[in-house]
Amino acid sequence: MRICYVIIIIGLLCCGLAQASGWQAVKSEHFVVYYKEDKNFAGETLRQAEKYYNKIASDLGYSRYDKFWQWENRVKIYIYPTREDFVESTGIERQWANGMANYEKKEIISYKWSKGFTESLLPHELTHLIFRDFVGFTGKIPLWLDEGVAQWEEKARGHAIKIVKNLIKDGNYIPVRRLMAMDVRHEDNYELARNFYAQATTLVGYLIEEYGGIKFSLFCRQLRDGKSVDEALSFVYANSIRSVDELEKKWLKYYGGG
Ligand SMILES: [Zn+2]
Repeated sequence: MRICYVIIIIGLLCCGLAQASGWQAVKSEHFVVYYKEDKNFAGETLRQAEKYYNKIASDLGYSRYDKFWQWENRVKIYIYPTREDFVESTGIERQWANGMANYEKKEIISYKWSKGFTESLLPHELTHLIFRDFVGFTGKIPLWLDEGVAQWEEKARGHAIKIVKNLIKDGNYIPVRRLMAMDVRHEDNYELARNFYAQATTLVGYLIEEYGGIKFSLFCRQLRDGKSVDEALSFVYANSIRSVDELEKKWLKYYGGG
């Protein structure tokens, strides 16, 4: 399971990247892909990015904003040839970090690792960017929600569901209130980080599958506007979920059958 590393403010790095030499570019309506070698891979990345863009925006109900990423607002995707190049240039050394998104600069930075890049990292980081465009930068969006949405769009959901079913069966899951306060970006315990991602994914999945995307968008907007998770839940899902504890009970039943 891939775990992403998100950096919200990396101004210095980005200036450095933009001025670095040796980049070539291919462009489409919403994206510019920068690459140092393998034009075919860059072209395929561009094609996939446009495909994901349409799907994610429509899944999350943000299609009406579909002009906001054009021309000078296009998202930039930097693809380093190897992981060593990526690590050397970004300074990110964590074992499981294969890429990152800069929300404010609308940039995705990674390296060429074929299938994992196009099937997993690209949709994951694109979801972060679309989600941020929607909820903005000022609101307090909890990490579990940010990561849960990104992971849900990444087709990692089948794997996450399997992990969660086992965690529930063995009583090893992270209590949901604790999960919601965790900052997994500083977590060195791989298994705990993996469980965090799997649980976050299925919490988002449960809310979307059971109550629909429109309510889910409304829930995210409540958080953005400053409500606590308890308040946002009881505002949007008043007839079924009025607190984090009730959410945990329903989530346990949904995936654990108990
Ligand atoms: Zn992420």
